[in-house]
Amino acid sequence: MLPPDNHVHSEYSWDALAGSMKRTCERAVELGLPSIAFTEHADFSISELTAEDWFPPEWQRYVEVVDGRNILTPPAIDLTGYLETLERCRDRFPQLRILSGVELSEAHWFPDQTADLLKRGGFQRILASLHTASKRDEPYADISASIKRGDAATEYQRYLAEAVRLIEEYDGFEVLTHIDYPVRYWPDDEPFDLARFEDEIRLVLRALARADKVMEFNTRIPLDPRVVAWWRQEGGKGVSFASDAHKPEAVGNGFKEAVEVARAAGFRPGADLFDFWVRD
Ligand SMILES: [Zn+2]
Ligand SMILES: [Zn+2]
Repeated sequence: MLPPDNHVHSEYSWDALAGSMKRTCERAVELGLPSIAFTEHADFSISELTAEDWFPPEWQRYVEVVDGRNILTPPAIDLTGYLETLERCRDRFPQLRILSGVELSEAHWFPDQTADLLKRGGFQRILASLHTASKRDEPYADISASIKRGDAATEYQRYLAEAVRLIEEYDGFEVLTHIDYPVRYWPDDEPFDLARFEDEIRLVLRALARADKVMEFNTRIPLDPRVVAWWRQEGGKGVSFASDAHKPEAVGNGFKEAVEVARAAGFRPGADLFDFWVRD
């Protein structure tokens, strides 16, 4: 039996152009997943897109030209539509446990907006994410854009340092997502050497364990087994599996391999099928 997919996006995430809650549920049933959580994006940071940043034409409606600069303001979640669609899916797929959720980006910078959204949403899975190496008082750039402009290793170090601040300054979440997010955008001409970042990654994991949170095993790119082992060594108790699917076909991707890695690192399924995995 595969574990729950605790991080999936539907058409209610502004960047999931091929998202479909209904078809994602169909696919999850086909795979035999016990449960999935629709954790839509809550992005409060406003960024400037430069001429080199490619973006899909559908995003144009979120871009405003101010003083000749392209300013991207991610839209808020349509909470009413989201919760209605979720209810319809629950009726339609009784064999699948369907959780509500949210992926909060840089929640420690936006305590008021975040608290308000959580109050209105009543979400069951609350994920904390970092998508940038920018500091709070700097112009915001998603790491997919900034990593091409700067030095990749420096960007990852800045990302990890900010992740520690996120954990220490914000407590309203359950799971820290994709600690390897920058690796998705690593430059092709530069080999990624995980060992170089071991100290900084361990600092994040130590802070996360101290805060009694769960680490996400994101399968968009398979998480390096060494990171899962470090998580256990640093005192980590729980692991959450996540496809981070933005389209129905991607739900549960890579889970067979991921559970093997987690098992080898000393984690096992929790008390029931719907739980996070726990340390042996
Ligand atoms: Zn994310
Ligand atoms: Zn996501």
